[in-house]
Amino acid sequence: MKNIYAKAWICVGVMMLGIVVLMSSLAFLGNKIMLYICLVLGIITFLAGIILNFIIVRCPHCGSHIGRVYGSRCPYCGEEYSRK
Ligand SMILES: [Zn+2]
Repeated sequence: MKNIYAKAWICVGVMMLGIVVLMSSLAFLGNKIMLYICLVLGIITFLAGIILNFIIVRCPHCGSHIGRVYGSRCPYCGEEYSRK
């Protein structure tokens, strides 16, 4: 996949999933083991989204990590993301 916007949104999706898992831990307040499992899984998923972002959301031209994709040009080299 070469679409940097799609990659950025996948990472956001993974982070959101982590938050959902964290939230779902509230359903297990009476069950400490399940509560801890959900908390740990949620944090791991959230961190995975951040790490994934660092690994795959990069400028196709200069390889700089962009993080949040603003506009259609790389803030480091000024090239357009879509142009290859
Ligand atoms: Zn660049």
